[in-house]
Amino acid sequence: MSVIKDTIARVKQMDRDQIEFQQAVTEVLETLEPTAQRHPELVKAGIYKRIVEPERAVIFRVPWMDDQGNVHVNRGFRVQFNNAIGPFKGGIRFHPSVNLSIIKFLGFEQIFKNALTTLPMGGGKGGSDFDPKGKSDAEIMRFCHAFMRELFRHIGPETDVPAGDIGVGGREIGYMYGYYKKIQNAHTGVLTGKGLEYGGSLIRPEATGYGTVYFAAEMLSTRGLDFKDKTVAVSGSGNVAQYAVEKVIRMGGKVITVCDSSATIVDESGIDRDKCCYIMDLKNNRRGRISEYASEYNCVCCEGENVWEVLRKQGIKADIALPCATQNELNAEDADALVKNGCICVAEGANMPSTPEAVRIFQEHNILYGPGKAANAGGVATSGLEMSQNSMKMSWTREEVDQRLLIIMKSIHKACLASAEAYGKKGDYVTGANTAGFMKVARAMLAYGIV
Ligand code: NDP
Repeated sequence: MSVIKDTIARVKQMDRDQIEFQQAVTEVLETLEPTAQRHPELVKAGIYKRIVEPERAVIFRVPWMDDQGNVHVNRGFRVQFNNAIGPFKGGIRFHPSVNLSIIKFLGFEQIFKNALTTLPMGGGKGGSDFDPKGKSDAEIMRFCHAFMRELFRHIGPETDVPAGDIGVGGREIGYMYGYYKKIQNAHTGVLTGKGLEYGGSLIRPEATGYGTVYFAAEMLSTRGLDFKDKTVAVSGSGNVAQYAVEKVIRMGGKVITVCDSSATIVDESGIDRDKCCYIMDLKNNRRGRISEYASEYNCVCCEGENVWEVLRKQGIKADIALPCATQNELNAEDADALVKNGCICVAEGANMPSTPEAVRIFQEHNILYGPGKAANAGGVATSGLEMSQNSMKMSWTREEVDQRLLIIMKSIHKACLASAEAYGKKGDYVTGANTAGFMKVARAMLAYGIV
């Protein structure tokens, strides 16, 4: 048995209930076969077996009190996956679906994504099964403080630097950073996604969405195409989706969908700048439901269905698809319908939003398919820029950061294509992203010996 098959089998046996983690490991390792054949020294040093095992995974109790004085206990996680090329780095997710499998899959993906950014960052991820929906500000604050009361001992600016993810935005980062600062009596770059007044970087909130669109634009340009006058389907309506929508509008595309976990809206007249501002206010300030958009702008609202399901069932065409909500949101049936309706490009703002079967369909039909670890790397790349600014005790302008983000996304795109070609899979962004990210980390691991 090859080391790759052997490693996948071992993960499936040892982590048998961790479905998402197995999916991520299988997806990455299957594309690494040519690296194992070309670099026997990596096999000899056990790199493949070592890279699927986190450095450590911490699970902790998070007790907190609601506004009525009732005590609740949630489970907290931090998986420090790999710090071969820099401190552990990756977001914190607050969502009821969070468990060890989801945090491990995200942490594992993060290793390769961070390596692709060209910045010195290792891979990690954390979170809790806490559901922020319907909670008051005071409850969110008490939960964030309780979460940091344990997390603080595992992180540090040179050790592990968390950021936001689903359910964790500027408000939550503020509460967590405030508590860390209080108990450590230190103002350091221990979290990214901070507010501008206390060490944040301009463009960090925009970076994942902008970066995804920059990456899609690079893919389109390989076929002489761009966003102008293209119909674009975006899923989600959170941080990543909002700024993806904003950037697509600027690039001349027409966005016709967004969703949340309750409903999808289809606005065939296009979401323009004003409507995009409405979504931002609705989701970030009023914390409302996307169905309110349909009442405001008199468009279609499909309750209980996600974007890809709605496009499929109603036969709606999209030239470009940007899944920006959550993992496994887009299945084989959805992919089939997208392809049949003329979709030419899929760039993943979310992490692992397409199922393995959906990815196969995109690849078989020669769709420009940018996997999340490449397409959404702009977020963590700009977190890396925030860390640099914190270390230098200075801040760059909006234009400077945006320019660096654009350069990084172009260089990730280039690295993916070069590595895909080097390993015999020309034009395959999945192989390109996985092999390019992996080789950088693997070489560093090799240099350290067996540690
Ligand atoms: P947010 O919490 O800001 O937004 C998530 C959005 O997705 C919300 O609109 C949410 O709906 C919706 N959503 C969640 N689950 C479902 C579901 N099952 N069906 C339909 N819609 C759903 O998170 P982000 O925008 O930050 O993250 C989105 C994705 O991007 C995640 O996969 C994340 O890991 C990835 N990502 C994020 C980065 C970042 O910088 N924030 C960086 C790189 C990747 P509702 O409002 O109902 O909760």
